[in-house]
Amino acid sequence: MIKKPFFGLGKPKLTYSGVRDIEGEDLKEILPSPRITLMHKSPNGDLGDLSLSIGDEVNTGQKLNLRENGGEFLTSTATGTITDISHTTGYAGQSFVSVAIEAKSKDLWDDELEKAGKNESPENVLPFLSYIPGISDLTSIIKTDNPPNTIIINGLDRDLLIATNQIIVKTEAENLAEGVEYLKKITGVKRVIFVVPPSLRMEAEQSGAEVKVIEPHYPDATPRLLMKEILDNPVSPSQSLEDLGVGFISAEAVVALRTAFVEGKMPVTKVVTVTDKNNRLTAVRAKVGTPVSDILNALNIDVSDGDRLVFGGPMSGRGIYSEDMPILHDTDAIMVQDKDQVIPAGNDPCINCGECVRACPAKLPVNMLIRLLENGLYEEAVQEYDLLSCVECGLCSYVCIMRIPIFHYIMLGKHELALTGGLEESNG
Ligand code: SF4
Ligand code: SF4
Repeated sequence: MIKKPFFGLGKPKLTYSGVRDIEGEDLKEILPSPRITLMHKSPNGDLGDLSLSIGDEVNTGQKLNLRENGGEFLTSTATGTITDISHTTGYAGQSFVSVAIEAKSKDLWDDELEKAGKNESPENVLPFLSYIPGISDLTSIIKTDNPPNTIIINGLDRDLLIATNQIIVKTEAENLAEGVEYLKKITGVKRVIFVVPPSLRMEAEQSGAEVKVIEPHYPDATPRLLMKEILDNPVSPSQSLEDLGVGFISAEAVVALRTAFVEGKMPVTKVVTVTDKNNRLTAVRAKVGTPVSDILNALNIDVSDGDRLVFGGPMSGRGIYSEDMPILHDTDAIMVQDKDQVIPAGNDPCINCGECVRACPAKLPVNMLIRLLENGLYEEAVQEYDLLSCVECGLCSYVCIMRIPIFHYIMLGKHELALTGGLEESNG
C-alpha cells in the first residue's frame, strides 16, 4: 500500500494490485446516468466549425462526427438530446471538446456499425473503432502503412491500486479468446503476446495468444519495460515502439473489439477500479461519460472539502477538480484520497540527494532533468538528459524527500513537446 514518500531506501519494492484485492472479486454495474458527457481530445479546441448542434437527437452507439472535414468523432454512449457543447481544458492544458447529453432511460441502438458488416479491414474498422474502451487510440496498432509485427496484450494494469484489466482477464476469458481472433484479422499480425501475472496464467492460456507471465512488480508492466523484459529488446530514446514494429493494447480493448464484431454494437461501457479513502478497491462497469459523482454515490463514497480525486493510480494518476467530470474511454481508475492523506507538493529546491536517480527504472539523471523541466527547457531535457526514455512510472516523485512534483513536470514537458511536434504523445 502507498503510505508516504520515504528517504534512503533506493529502489522501492512495490507490487501491483490484483483481483484478490477487489471487494468481492466481482464487477458492480452502475445504473445509466441521466446526464452523459462525452469528451474528445482535440488540439483544435475551436467550436466554430463543429457539425454537432445543441438539440440534436442521438442514439446509443452512434458515431458523432465533430467536424465536416476531419476524422474527429465521438461515440454516443446514450440515447437522448445534446444539451451543451463546450471547450474544456484538462490535465497539463490538454484541450477537449465536451458534449453533454440528456439521456433517456431506454437505449435505442444505432445500427450503422451493424450495417457496415463484419468486414475486418482497417478501412472498415477505423472509422468506427478508433476510440474504444481501454485504449487511447486504436490507430496506434491498426495501420495500412508500417503495420506492427507483434502485438502485446497487457493483462496487468498501469498503476498500483488498479485491477481493471486483471478482472477482465479473470471474468471474460472466452470473450478475450474471440477478441484475440478479431485482433489478428484486423491487424494481420501473426504474433500476439498476452502478458499476465502468475495468478491469471490459466485464464490467459484460453486466449490462443502466446502467454508470458511476469511477476507483478511495479513498474514492470509499462510498455517500454515490457519490451525489455519479454522481448529482450530495450528501446532507445530515439525509437518509438512503432519503430520497432510492436503495438500495445489492453485486455479491455480486446474485449471491446469482440463486442463490436460479434454483437455489431459499439462498446459503450468501461470498467473502472474505484479506490476509496481506506484504500478499498471496487470494480465497477459504467457507461463512458458517466459523471464520477454517480459512481461515488452508488458506492456510498463521500467526498468532502480538501479530499482529492484522481483519475488513475497513486503513482501516475492525474488530479481532477470536480465530481462532475465524466469517465473517459481510457479512465481505468478513480481514486479518492482523504485530505489527511494528501501530501502537498513542496516549494523548496532539490537538495541533490539522488533518491530519484536510484529509483528511476530508466536510469535517468532525474536530479538534472528536473532543473531543466522546472525552467521550461523541454527540448534541452530531451537532448541532454533523455527525457524520452522516461517510462512515466512516477517513482521519482514518490521518493523525493523535498516533495518536488517531478512527475507532473515530466508530463507537462512531454505534453508541450507533443504540441510542438517534438514527440508522439504517450498512449497512456
Ligand atoms: S523519470 Fe520517468 S522513468 Fe524515471 S522514475 Fe521518474 S517517471 Fe519513472
Ligand atoms: S529531485 Fe532532488 S531532492 Fe528530489 S529526490 Fe531527486 S535529488 Fe533528491
